[in-house]
Amino acid sequence: MYPFTFTKVSDTAEALNAGHRGGRYIAGGTTLVDLMRETVERPETLVDISALPLRGVTVTERGGLRIGALVRMAEAAAHAKVRTTYPVISEALELSASAQLRNMATIGGNIMQRTRCTYFRDVTAGCNKREPGSGCAARDGFNRTHAILGTSDACVATHPSDVAVAFAALQATVHVVGPDGARSIPFADFLLRPGSTPEREQALQKGELITAVEIPAFPRPLKSGYLKVRDRQSYEFALTSAAVALHVRGGVIREAKVAAGGVGTVPWKLPAVEKHLIGERPSQALWAEAAKHAADGARPLEHNRFKVELLKRTVERQLRIVGGTK
Ligand SMILES: Cc1cc2nc3c(=O)[nH]c(=O)nc-3n(C[C@H](O)[C@H](O)[C@H](O)COP(=O)(O)OP(=O)(O)OC[C@H]3O[C@@H](n4cnc5c(N)ncnc54)[C@H](O)[C@@H]3O)c2cc1C
Repeated sequence: MYPFTFTKVSDTAEALNAGHRGGRYIAGGTTLVDLMRETVERPETLVDISALPLRGVTVTERGGLRIGALVRMAEAAAHAKVRTTYPVISEALELSASAQLRNMATIGGNIMQRTRCTYFRDVTAGCNKREPGSGCAARDGFNRTHAILGTSDACVATHPSDVAVAFAALQATVHVVGPDGARSIPFADFLLRPGSTPEREQALQKGELITAVEIPAFPRPLKSGYLKVRDRQSYEFALTSAAVALHVRGGVIREAKVAAGGVGTVPWKLPAVEKHLIGERPSQALWAEAAKHAADGARPLEHNRFKVELLKRTVERQLRIVGGTK
């Protein structure tokens, strides 16, 4: 470790003031502290926001859900309203990390977590995300777990969050507050593809604080779920994953929300799959046909070519689990 200052704030104004002066927010600390130990991150000032009133899961006026940024992953997963209305969120959370981590880690921290690319976490390796201009060791290195969608010459790292895949599928909104006031960012615009600036990972401005994630209301019944495929069944990040939500009325699919994880530089929404499903009757043939589009645009690397087929199968299987087979 290296020397840094630590301050605990008790209200949002105090937090924003410290954030504006360059302080780095810390919530559960489950990932930031690791990165500091490895000297991948070297913030000079930590601002502990854990005492701020950003807790609670509430139903919005429009019938959606608002999950406070400081709600613990375990708490959100177990919340009755989350479980009953958006099981895809509960499942994504429960398939993440470990029980101990989920008891400590927060929703805001989860969507802000950084890639698990081993070259990013190895300060002796070239990594444009960690050190702009230093190259991408993963491109020509061992890239089995890396992204096949949304990559650039500068970066091929995946976004590791599971619940972010559910938020992308459900078209959530991230509420933030900053020195210039509050604003809302559609989830699709919150996490940034690497392009030529992989060090810029999300749309937050300096000092902005996430206050909540809001999930819009959907027509009922909405059936949903999350499937995660990984090298071992527990305590492991996704090789591929699929978040699926379907609204079927009168035997016809009226709404389809599908996104994939483990494959993109950001959680990967699958509009071509969704388009294929809407207006159709659920059937095994439909799931298979729609899932063929899951890897549209994929650019696999030397060691992760298998993800193209695995992704299609993951999406097909999760459509079958959520939508049933006829
Ligand atoms: C061994 C291990 C396995 C894991 N496995 C998985 C997994 O399978 N799936 C998965 O999804 N995740 C996994 N994780 C990641 C875990 O979910 C994250 O560590 C956790 O969600 C981060 O939350 P936190 O509150 O501890 O964040 P912190 O470590 O406190 O902060 C993380 C980042 O978020 C920023 N931040 C936090 N809160 C706010 C806010 N309100 N506004 C603005 N910025 C904020 C911080 O500045 C920091 O940059 C794993 C982690 C570990 C260590």
